[in-house]
Amino acid sequence: MAKKDSSNKKQENCSFCGRSKKQVDAFVEGPCGVFICPECIDLCYNIVRQERRRQNGSAVNLKDIPKPREIKEFLDEYVIGQVDAKKCLSVAVHNHYKRLLHTDMEDKDVEIEKSNILLLGPTGSGKTLLAKTLAKVLHVPFAICDATTVTEAGYVGEDVENFLLRLVQSADYDIEAAQRGIVYIDEIDKVGKSNQNVSITRDVSGEGVQQALLKMLEGTTANIPPQGGRKHPEQQYIQIDTTQIMFICGGTFVGLDNIIKKRLGKRMIGFGSEQTDSKTDHNEKLEYSELLRQVIPEDVIEYGMIPEIVGRLPLITTLDALDVDALVNILTQPRNALIKQYTKLFEMEDAELEFTEKALKLLGKLAIERDTGARALRAITENLMVDLMYRLPEQPKHGKYLITEDVIEGKVDLFDQDEVERKESA
Ligand code: ADP
Repeated sequence: MAKKDSSNKKQENCSFCGRSKKQVDAFVEGPCGVFICPECIDLCYNIVRQERRRQNGSAVNLKDIPKPREIKEFLDEYVIGQVDAKKCLSVAVHNHYKRLLHTDMEDKDVEIEKSNILLLGPTGSGKTLLAKTLAKVLHVPFAICDATTVTEAGYVGEDVENFLLRLVQSADYDIEAAQRGIVYIDEIDKVGKSNQNVSITRDVSGEGVQQALLKMLEGTTANIPPQGGRKHPEQQYIQIDTTQIMFICGGTFVGLDNIIKKRLGKRMIGFGSEQTDSKTDHNEKLEYSELLRQVIPEDVIEYGMIPEIVGRLPLITTLDALDVDALVNILTQPRNALIKQYTKLFEMEDAELEFTEKALKLLGKLAIERDTGARALRAITENLMVDLMYRLPEQPKHGKYLITEDVIEGKVDLFDQDEVERKESA
């Protein structure tokens, strides 16, 4: 029977790696003085898992593959709007599973190529959120990386290989599983040649980084340094084949609209005709979304991405700028919506929290002024709520609190106002 180590034994070492009891937090003891440490248990577990996968062929079964509609419905629970991007991602992920299944089958007369995706959209429109939400629904390893951290070899910063390391880590060092995973690369536009924001840590043209990314997208056997790779202390590099890994790239591509506008010519058909003089900044944002939808690969090349990379990202999909209504929905509808969270926190204090429609719209408008998409919503709402949450526990129980525009603008104190209301209703 295995039991946890008791301290009165002397000279206890892991029978597999030799680590002493002092070096690990626990030992499992077997018969005849055999011990195993947690690190070796982890390692053995991974070996068994890999071996089983090899024996059973693909772990994926056609009937287990989530349908595109199911994936989209899951994304709908967290991400507001962005229907095109959601559909595109759902189909791409579904096909990714199918391709893996096909690769494992004997019939090789048709080769299903992977189709990596390029997500274009303004900042704070939900690119990273889509990727993160996707990770929740997937049964393959998934890593989110940032292209701005990458440098050409020799410069200060990360190497492209670290993206793969992250994938390997998310697969718990199961290389076979990692080779079937999905990587999301954020801010891909920042490695474009024409980018002005060149830091001293990146090669000036950005092209070296793009070439390194290209190799990875095309399919290569990469050697990745197992930084902190405790599972491979004796190995210098982990080798990983990127042929089956699907890549989703995201970027804001500031200025791409001008390139598209130029291509389309001055008479932009289909939009712009009903514009009035009172065009606000936000309308411009929406016009930007319309323009972005008409993007073709050549525009992205003109922006500064090398043609080979663009060729490896055959699916281009765009995200829209969010308007006030979308922002109100973001505040109230997702499973983890901010308003839902605060309502719950109030409920725990036996209090009821409500926002008026106008108050929600005001929060949306304030967020739009900051020009960072939905990202500003959290900051604005938290700013408002922090004082209220601070004082809430001191308020009488069973209170009902209504947040109006006046409360947001600081003209009325929520708790004073409610006290009067409570007295009136009493
Ligand atoms: P980016 O497009 O710049 O990657 P993010 O996905 O990081 O933007 O969005 C920042 C935050 O804004 C998210 O964490 C989320 O809370 C909110 N958000 C942005 N877009 C949406 C959306 N379409 N639906 C719901 N929440 C969103």
